[in-house]
Amino acid sequence: MSKVLNDGLQQTKKPIGWNGKTLKQMRREIDEISKETGYYAGLTELSLKESDPIRFEKIYSKLRGGIVHARETAKKVAASPIVEQEGELCFSLYTPEADSIVTSTGIIIHVGTMGAAIKFMIENDYEDNPGIADKDIFCNNDNHVGNVHTCDVHTLVPIFWEDEVIGWVGGVTHVIDTGASAPGSMPMGPVQRYDDGYQVTCRKIGQNDVLSKDWLLESTRSVRAVKYWTLDEKTRVAGCHMVRDLVLDVIKEEGVDTYKQFIREIIEDGRRGFVNQVKTMLIPGKYRQASFVDVPFKDLDLPSFARINTIMHSPSEITVHEDAKLEIDFEGTNRWGWHPFNATPVSITSGIWVMLSQTLVPNDRINDGAYYASKFGVPYGSWLNPDDIRSAHSNTWHALVSAWSPLWRGLSRSYYGRGYLEEVNAGNAHTTNWLMGGGIDQYGQLSALNSFETAACGVGAGAVKDGISHSAALWNPEGDMGDMEIWELLEPLLYLGREILPGSGGAGKYRGGNGWQSLRLGWGAKEWSMFVAGAGAMATDCGLMGGYPASSGYRFIAHNTDIKERIAKQLPIPLGGDFDPDNPIWDTSMNAETIHRDRQAVSTQEEFKDYDVIMNYLRGGPGFGDPLERNPKFVEQDLNERLILLRYAEKVYGCAFTEENGVYTVDIRATKERRKQIRKERLERSDPTKEWMESEKVTIMNKEASLQVKHMYAESFALSEKFTNDFKDFWNMPKDWMVYEDELNVPMLGSHINRFKQ
Ligand code: MN
Repeated sequence: MSKVLNDGLQQTKKPIGWNGKTLKQMRREIDEISKETGYYAGLTELSLKESDPIRFEKIYSKLRGGIVHARETAKKVAASPIVEQEGELCFSLYTPEADSIVTSTGIIIHVGTMGAAIKFMIENDYEDNPGIADKDIFCNNDNHVGNVHTCDVHTLVPIFWEDEVIGWVGGVTHVIDTGASAPGSMPMGPVQRYDDGYQVTCRKIGQNDVLSKDWLLESTRSVRAVKYWTLDEKTRVAGCHMVRDLVLDVIKEEGVDTYKQFIREIIEDGRRGFVNQVKTMLIPGKYRQASFVDVPFKDLDLPSFARINTIMHSPSEITVHEDAKLEIDFEGTNRWGWHPFNATPVSITSGIWVMLSQTLVPNDRINDGAYYASKFGVPYGSWLNPDDIRSAHSNTWHALVSAWSPLWRGLSRSYYGRGYLEEVNAGNAHTTNWLMGGGIDQYGQLSALNSFETAACGVGAGAVKDGISHSAALWNPEGDMGDMEIWELLEPLLYLGREILPGSGGAGKYRGGNGWQSLRLGWGAKEWSMFVAGAGAMATDCGLMGGYPASSGYRFIAHNTDIKERIAKQLPIPLGGDFDPDNPIWDTSMNAETIHRDRQAVSTQEEFKDYDVIMNYLRGGPGFGDPLERNPKFVEQDLNERLILLRYAEKVYGCAFTEENGVYTVDIRATKERRKQIRKERLERSDPTKEWMESEKVTIMNKEASLQVKHMYAESFALSEKFTNDFKDFWNMPKDWMVYEDELNVPMLGSHINRFKQ
């Protein structure tokens, strides 16, 4: 009896990896041999590719074409405009050990996060419990397992050939709501994990290709916007199953041995391709840069321990090694905090691939090969790598985007040096504002909104051309702003206007692409609340080689307006035209009980009624080169097309104009004179760098800085001795200068530093 039982148990535990191995064994072996040999899976030769290159490319094209097709088809299942209109989804195919082979278009940051989730299941012996079987369905959105933020929900499906796992397919969509402490997918309000909403930690949610009843009941009772949640899940499952069919078809056609060889070789091929690109385009050396984002939480309606104003600090150092290894280190990043802007290592590194696929590796061969050719330093305990499971992540993009942007500039300096001028990019826009809210919508349904207009921000300028306006976001190369009519179907907000914001892109010899704004009117909700989430006080992204940063943000909200009466009386109401911050017109075309027009660009939920109005400001990109070197004719054109305001055309670009019937003509001779004068004024008000550093050093020694700045540095110093020493060396400070010891008493998680430090 016991023998039968034992045999029975043994049978259910038969390893599902190749050649009688467990997935865990396979994972370890791949890591070991890749590390030992320096080649993925130890492949010093690509025998399939070399012996039959056409067949190799054919298999690749079939998989790549099929997975892109699966995304395009599956997204039509979704009803959420975030997925269906803006394209916030992606599918990726993996090896049995969760290395990515090929990926669709879309939010390809999740190539890494879904891989991390599968690796988590392998590491935690899911093969034994709960078991991994053909036609199982798994779900994950746990940030600490491997995710960008809670609302990116993964569906993960193993692919079996006979009794072996031949691979995995993952599908992800950005859902509208996760049942967090505030509505919307990236809410302001969560300051701990427990506020972030429904988190699923790599759970088996279906068998035999059917979602389990308990899962369907529980998940739909845990989130708002249930209809969209449900259709998003169907989208992910449909896409995963299409990709699974595709893989099985390829195996039937090519044979399983060829497929097994192919998936190893394509990753090694990706690694080699990446190394070649680094050799071709970059110059060995170190490239340093930094960015900063404000966290203005002091006056928000949050738990007392979260109510501080601080700054998130993202310094980075790119090292291009002589053997073409690319290393990126974030040493000096400050500590994670009680805010929803924390990130995880896989989110920062995966995002770097998204960026690199748009610059260094501009082809469709993005897979884990590039990962094997690089190295990352993500300091433990920093906001990029919290040492505490309590950290919140709902709005991780707040600082993540600005942590990546400096990397564009580092790489661009190298491209410039090599003469690849057309690859230079001054950085990406800070993709805010995030307009969000929720309540009972115009259909009487419990719902939430999360506008993704921010997928179409301005692009940074290049070394040979202006940045493209209102068109892109770093995190989704396929992104779109969506049609107003579609957003209005979902959201109880009407559009009063959509318009380009002149001068919102950074000035420069080539200017950053402009941003834009929407103005929305509350309409039809039964009960509703709104909030904004953007950077306000700081320009999060500086320009390159003399280019200016893009404009920083602000918020505009008006409550209890008289717009209803004004419409009845056919009086002016706020529409377009409010594009000059010094001459606002919305405020004068209505009366309202309260109007917020300020730099508090993050806020928590406020009741939002019919005829209240709220602005969604989508940012521009930074500029490249000295604005005084810009062709005056380009400035004239920008001015006449209302892409820049007159006073900045004069002041920043040093142009002089004559005007006739509202049409400006640049006066070339007067412009030359004016520019000469500006250059003289610049010299007059500047100090030699050495002298400036001496005076600045005194300021630092005396700790003359705002509390936010001191708090930020205190955290960076507490986390990193190397950063502290580099800082002291740079400023030539005495070795015993005590850095912000007193300031450690401000509410900061750094006081626990020793307890958590690895
Ligand atoms: Mn997302």
